[in-house]
Amino acid sequence: MIDNLTKKFPSAWEQLRDGGKETVFNFCNEYKDFLDSGKTERESSDEIIKQAKDKGYISFEDVISKGSFKAGDKIYAENKGKGVALFVIGQDSLEKGMKIVGSHIDTPRLDLKAQPLYQDGELALLKTHYYGGIKKYQWVAIPLALHGVIFNKKGEKINIVIGEDENDPVFYITDLLPHLAKEQMDKKMGEGIIGESLNVLIGSIPYNGEKEKDDAIKLNVLKLLNEKYGIVEEDFTVAELEIVPAGKARDVGIDRSMVAAHGHDDRVCAFASLKAVLEIEEPKQTVVGLFVDKEEVGSLGNTGMESMFFENVVAELLNLEGVTSHLGIRRAMANSKVLSGDVTAGFDPNYPDVSDKRNTPYIGKGVTITKYTGSRGKSSSNDANAEFLSEIRDIFNEADVSWQVGELGKVDEGGGGTIAYILANKGAEVVDCGTPMLSMHAPIELISKIDLYNTYKAYKAFYQG
Ligand code: MN
Ligand code: MN
Repeated sequence: MIDNLTKKFPSAWEQLRDGGKETVFNFCNEYKDFLDSGKTERESSDEIIKQAKDKGYISFEDVISKGSFKAGDKIYAENKGKGVALFVIGQDSLEKGMKIVGSHIDTPRLDLKAQPLYQDGELALLKTHYYGGIKKYQWVAIPLALHGVIFNKKGEKINIVIGEDENDPVFYITDLLPHLAKEQMDKKMGEGIIGESLNVLIGSIPYNGEKEKDDAIKLNVLKLLNEKYGIVEEDFTVAELEIVPAGKARDVGIDRSMVAAHGHDDRVCAFASLKAVLEIEEPKQTVVGLFVDKEEVGSLGNTGMESMFFENVVAELLNLEGVTSHLGIRRAMANSKVLSGDVTAGFDPNYPDVSDKRNTPYIGKGVTITKYTGSRGKSSSNDANAEFLSEIRDIFNEADVSWQVGELGKVDEGGGGTIAYILANKGAEVVDCGTPMLSMHAPIELISKIDLYNTYKAYKAFYQG
């Protein structure tokens, strides 16, 4: 009796049953493949749709042209190639609300500017503008890859991935040698590398060996790009090209318990919810896996969570159900329950001072429930209702999910936000629930395999509960 009075959050590894580790490791091998096949929001969106189609999902457009759907149907709605909503239609009307896990598939990186290519100091370089909250000094002197789309003058979209195959070249941003870095090293860390110096090396051989010719090195780069992709310099103005770290996701630790990779934030929660939603059959209430873009830059624009995309899709489905009143969509949103699947900062023994040790998530203790985010007095936070938290706790305990609670950092140390508040503003019950991680927003981030697995278990239990 006396033992039940206190609550400790044990290591999730300790809670694994026989054979459990192999299941976890196999699951994470699939996750690593998912990461390697999707290093941009477009690639992740394509991968999600591919996996959904393999499981029998049909497109939203097909449903609209058919004019009807029924309980048990699986539908995917794509948002401009950068976001997806996966629906498993329930027996209840959509008006009764949905169970949604929402995550984001954009990730901090460097985007090429509209006129990126130039020559300076016998080198050809690409100008970038960083996307999301990065520490700029982390992006120099590491191998980089180029991913994205560019349109040629015929209006054809060309997909580009350079730097991922081991036979590919990579790209690179230089840093100053320590010998000459006295002034740089005296600067604050945030100023040592500035945004305008994040210029990516792309070549150094002059066209036809004619060094004297104006911008011959830039010209040679354009010639090579033209030969391979049929593009010209003007086409950079109609492109979305992203610089990300080159290379694949890797196991970390002699026990292989962790994964280092680009873009865990937030593809780890995206993958967990994808796997969970793909396993749901014939639910009572409609189940949704929602994958959005632009979270890292404020969720704005027509592919961000603030856009009307998701509601428009649900409104169209309601219309096919015969619910034509505009109240239908409002009811559907207000009656919904949402896990906002996003990463949170785990306790880092190298930086213990930024966390409240008693209220921080720990790597290896499972999926994290975060009642509120925000900063400086919970500002801008969705503060989940205790009633909903109670429901979630019951579901997780019932399903043997290893879960913990935690805040992102100490009071007044900083803070963060997710898409939680956006759905909560529509009246849905929402709580942040995702994977703890280390080195968030670094080019290569770190998670624990057991935390990913429990994130998946949590989402699946939520969908089933
Ligand atoms: Mn995130
Ligand atoms: Mn983030």
